[in-house]
Amino acid sequence: MQHPPAYTAKITDYDRSVSTRMYSADNADALIAAALCDDDEVSPDADRSGRITITRMITGHRSALDPTRVTLWRTIRLEPVCPPRWLTTRQYKDLRLIQEREAAPGTILVNGCVRAGVVSVPAAATKRLLERGWLTVGPDGTASVSYAGRVAMTLHEHRTETGYMGTDKWVVDGFGIGEWHIGEPLYLARCSCGYRAEGRFEVRAMAQQASRKHRLERLRAVFDLTA
Ligand SMILES: [Zn+2]
Repeated sequence: MQHPPAYTAKITDYDRSVSTRMYSADNADALIAAALCDDDEVSPDADRSGRITITRMITGHRSALDPTRVTLWRTIRLEPVCPPRWLTTRQYKDLRLIQEREAAPGTILVNGCVRAGVVSVPAAATKRLLERGWLTVGPDGTASVSYAGRVAMTLHEHRTETGYMGTDKWVVDGFGIGEWHIGEPLYLARCSCGYRAEGRFEVRAMAQQASRKHRLERLRAVFDLTA
């Protein structure tokens, strides 16, 4: 089976040299899993880009002859080839079906379709999910949702927006004459998942910041990162 590229990676190595390479969804999953295992820093961007940065830090002597301790970093910046926003509701539901059955009994690829119990994802839809790097198939035919797919699903579930409420009031004075008092609008941070930030914000940017914080928490959960 062909492995289309899922990510373009920009690698800044320990010696600060920069290179780029492509990663298939399988290879990117293996890279991310190894990074998490080695306690490298894995950080998804807070925006809707689906970008992930992996940072590995090493500390040691400068050389065999020079005992000066130095700390060096290597960063791998993964940029999805297919933007997460291309995920359709139909595709989201297909990935959800596959993900829900991942633990047991699992889903397998049969004649180009992902078979999930009595239901299956049609061949054309399966092909598209593989092309976009959202689905991977193991050597034994087991289908699973890639990290790129999980990130796209999370962004689909958490479409944040900034709303606002007016605070104009009808005020009646001592003579019984009323007039509108124009108030400053207050901003709200809310999400398609039902999340509402506590409180109201006087500045729009603060509401946007609360939305980003919520989205980032959900994205970090994809990689089992907490706090
Ligand atoms: Zn949400």
